[in-house]
Amino acid sequence: MNEKIKLSKPYLLSADDLTIDDINNIFVKTHFFMDNHKTGVKYDDLKSTIVSLAFFEDSTRTKLSFELAAKRLSADCFSFQAKTSSLSKGESVLDTLKTIEAMGVGIFIIRHNCSGVPVFLQGNTNGMIINAGDGQHEHPTQALLDAFTLHKHFGDLKGKKVCIIGDILHSRVARSNMTLLNTLGVDVSICSPGTLLPYDMNAWNVGIIDTVDEAVEWADVLLVLRLQRERMESGLLPSIREFSNYYSITIEHLRRKPELMLMHPGPVNYGIELDYSISKLPNVLIETQVTHGVFVRMALLSLLSGYAN
Ligand code: ASP
Repeated sequence: MNEKIKLSKPYLLSADDLTIDDINNIFVKTHFFMDNHKTGVKYDDLKSTIVSLAFFEDSTRTKLSFELAAKRLSADCFSFQAKTSSLSKGESVLDTLKTIEAMGVGIFIIRHNCSGVPVFLQGNTNGMIINAGDGQHEHPTQALLDAFTLHKHFGDLKGKKVCIIGDILHSRVARSNMTLLNTLGVDVSICSPGTLLPYDMNAWNVGIIDTVDEAVEWADVLLVLRLQRERMESGLLPSIREFSNYYSITIEHLRRKPELMLMHPGPVNYGIELDYSISKLPNVLIETQVTHGVFVRMALLSLLSGYAN
């Protein structure tokens, strides 16, 4: 391995920050960490770096896998708990960041329910910001681990067909995936009720598919999304049951096309966007995505470590 390889930007705010070379370098490094993994073995890429997980919004997978990744690279790593912090006493997000920075933190892994917070913070710190999901804007590391999962399954992704199904409007995962998969030459389509399509659909280089049946027929992979009700205004759907009747993926869909792969970033709301009966089928990659997430985040942190304070 050439340890001197760095990513082209000294932070990760958006999937747009990653060139095709960056993505390929991340994949190579991810393979290295996966192939050589032994429980308890640590690397020293982040030995002299303090990493803070600053999650202003809830998370299971992203937070835990970043923590594990940072610790496997020997970082000093701590979590900032937004709910029990001085935010409740009126401290601003920027002052919170400055306070943590004053403790010597070099890498901030930020999740916030407002789009744009990681970009704003990067403009106001000497540290490195990694976006772990901001509002409905971007979730670049989810897109990286999704793309790695596809690459591990298919090899070259050029011309592969991925249909993103469900609540696209509120989904940062959809936005980051549309960008990153396009960079990799993947043919991306979306399938969603009209009220859950982004207003700026023309800005995205993706096709629109009307029905789940057509999506099943067209795609190599379905990337299914949760209804993100925490960001949803009322009146966008007649009812959850109505959505489910038209957009839920069932075992019949997957039986009809056994080579079709299915991914979901989690958390899954079984019974709404996915039928529970599909969860254990071999072509459902949800747990594999989680496993890959740790190694992808190790690779990302390792390749960014040369920039860290
Ligand atoms: N875990 C993903 C996110 O943070 C997807 C979701 O919440 O539905 O955006």
